[in-house]
Amino acid sequence: MSRQKIIRLLSLTSQEEQQSLFQRAYAVKVDQHGKNVHFRGLIEFSNQCRKNCLYCGIRSGNTHVHRYWMTDEEILQVVELAKAKGLTGVVLQSGERTDSDFVHRITTLIKKIKKTTSLDFRITLSIGEQTPETYQKWFEAGAQRYLLRIETTNETLYNSIHPNDKLHSFETRLNCLDRIQQTGYQTGTGVMIGLPGQTEEHLADDLLFIQQKGIDMVGMGPYLEHAQTPMSELTEKRWPLFSRFECSLRMIAVLRLMMPTIHIASTTALESVIPTGRELGLKAGANVLMPNLTPLNYRREYLLYENKPCLVFNADENFENLLLRVRKSGEQVVYNDYGDSRYFINRHKTFKTPSK
Ligand code: SAM
Ligand code: SF4
Repeated sequence: MSRQKIIRLLSLTSQEEQQSLFQRAYAVKVDQHGKNVHFRGLIEFSNQCRKNCLYCGIRSGNTHVHRYWMTDEEILQVVELAKAKGLTGVVLQSGERTDSDFVHRITTLIKKIKKTTSLDFRITLSIGEQTPETYQKWFEAGAQRYLLRIETTNETLYNSIHPNDKLHSFETRLNCLDRIQQTGYQTGTGVMIGLPGQTEEHLADDLLFIQQKGIDMVGMGPYLEHAQTPMSELTEKRWPLFSRFECSLRMIAVLRLMMPTIHIASTTALESVIPTGRELGLKAGANVLMPNLTPLNYRREYLLYENKPCLVFNADENFENLLLRVRKSGEQVVYNDYGDSRYFINRHKTFKTPSK
């Protein structure tokens, strides 16, 4: 798809034209993936973070946050719940740390999870920028997937939403994404949509970047304010909330047309704007959902943005609610399938599951 066409589709405002775009993308999704939805159990195991991204509620500079770290036993209990619910993988997400204690703890944790699950149980990591050696170590320990959102591929915009220092370098973020892919992970990235100063041109470039890099899994959603962050004060160039939401759906739909066989998540942030936001994401072409299985007491301390949903029910209830909603919307959850994207399988014909 040409850049011009992508920009045109991302700029649609008429309801009729948008619905037609969503229907086309949904038809491609059904053709390639059926009405299937892959569930990944999300475990937000720690909110400790060395970085200070200007948009994020758990940034290191936010002194109002009570920092936590779930014990291995607590994490393994959540993995047991995920297994009991028939899930074939979990996503381990946290703030970013790179110290040797952290690296060691994650390595041990991955091995412990591998011991208690089937060989093929998929572990996805979403724990930020690391050294090539660390990515390799965790891959060898048994993690198969890694999510690292590029946030925006426009360097100037990237710099405007991060502190101006070495810890928040656009170049490092890019290099890390490349390194994750080279290590052999099924690689996920994504962007925030509706950042102050962001345009449809920027977003079109983001989609072209994802395509050109050959990304296997994508998670994109609206940028949402958190009062205890510097970016929430940036009222200039702010997108109306509903525009961010609608544009997120258009981004999902256009990407589905561009890359029919990848995995696209319908993110929790969509639900913060509209209660049925995640269902609408599925109808626009997404095929992955991440039920939040983090214990409620910790989940309340992992507030990236305001109005984060899923803060009322415990993990079990959360899961069952989402399951009901998926069924009600006419989709079906896939069990007994490790859910590697066909795009990845084709890219890595020789992919072998790392051993226990
Ligand atoms: N620390 C890791 C990292 O940054 O890659 C993983 C966890 S981080 C909380 C996961 C994602 O949350 C980020 O990549 C960012 O896109 C998203 N996020 C953070 N603050 C947000 C906000 N205010 N609105 C929407 N998404 C946000
Ligand atoms: Fe830390 Fe990730 Fe939040 Fe940035 S987005 S402050 S790295 S948790």
